[in-house]
Amino acid sequence: MSKNALPSQVAIVVPVYNEEAVVDAFHQRLRRVIDVLPVTFSIIYVNDGSTDGTQVALEAIAQADPRVVVVELSRNFGHQAALTAGLDQVEAEWVISMDGDGEHPPELIPEMLALATQGYEVVLAQRQEPQQAGWFKRWTSEAFYYLINRIASTPIPPGVSDFRLLHRRALEALRQMREYHRFLRGMVAWAGFRTVILPYAPTPRLGGHSHYSLQKMLRLAFNAIFSFSLVPLYLGISLGGVFLFLALLEALYVLSFWLTGRQASLAPGWSSLMFVLLFVGGSLMIMLGIIGLYVGYIFQEVKQRPIYFIRRMVTFSSDAESKHD
Ligand code: UDP
Repeated sequence: MSKNALPSQVAIVVPVYNEEAVVDAFHQRLRRVIDVLPVTFSIIYVNDGSTDGTQVALEAIAQADPRVVVVELSRNFGHQAALTAGLDQVEAEWVISMDGDGEHPPELIPEMLALATQGYEVVLAQRQEPQQAGWFKRWTSEAFYYLINRIASTPIPPGVSDFRLLHRRALEALRQMREYHRFLRGMVAWAGFRTVILPYAPTPRLGGHSHYSLQKMLRLAFNAIFSFSLVPLYLGISLGGVFLFLALLEALYVLSFWLTGRQASLAPGWSSLMFVLLFVGGSLMIMLGIIGLYVGYIFQEVKQRPIYFIRRMVTFSSDAESKHD
């Protein structure tokens, strides 16, 4: 594998949503790490339609640090869309994406860059210890990775979040993928490139609270499953096959009475009939639901709507004046 020089230009993309209380502390912590590195950094904060004072806090950060660009979206589009908005603004050769709440330790950045010099194009940070988040989140996350790795054709390493370093080649590949339902860790895995996993111990949130409600986590899981796998559709076909086979067996059984002239001692059979009716009806409903979900996903994809809208961009850097609105 060919070696690279230490990346000279690196962009850091940080989506933030209602993080007024923590963005400043995050930025100071980030600065302590990057200011001592012989690398030119640019930092892109994407304000994902925050309803608190996040925009004001970000603009104050930008005013004090000319490397900062603030991208303000027109509303809350969600973490994955906000991250995409930031990645779309990157001009540097390398990009790091991370959360702005302190769960992704900036102290890992030097190690990520060191791996880049070894010829890797994608460095995925992987949480090692179980997260501070309670057992429910841990359990659902483990179940999710188990499921997605069983049914999706591209393996997605567990514990890998959206904390990663990408070379421009991988970034360009990602930029070409404009699907509406985005599951970036799956998309990065699907794109390929020389990838390495960098384990780290998680650090707690600097403050505030997680914005991933159960509903949002489920939506992300559904996005991952239905945009990365056709297995649920095959499930329907196999289930249908099993029922057809059972029906055939039953027909043969009944036919055997007719052929041998034996007296069928079948009970009125109301309960078994009912069972079969309900069972088959239920399975059909589930399969219809699954097909319906795929149709819904297709419907949203064919509209080809933009993934986000930018209200404005703010930077106090002299050489990026053109980006001012
Ligand atoms: N975030 C965002 N848009 C959203 C929700 C979250 O940009 O709709 C940001 C959030 O500010 C944070 C990152 O995405 O920087 C991760 O979100 P969060 O901390 O809520 O997720 P967690 O990893 O804690 O479950």
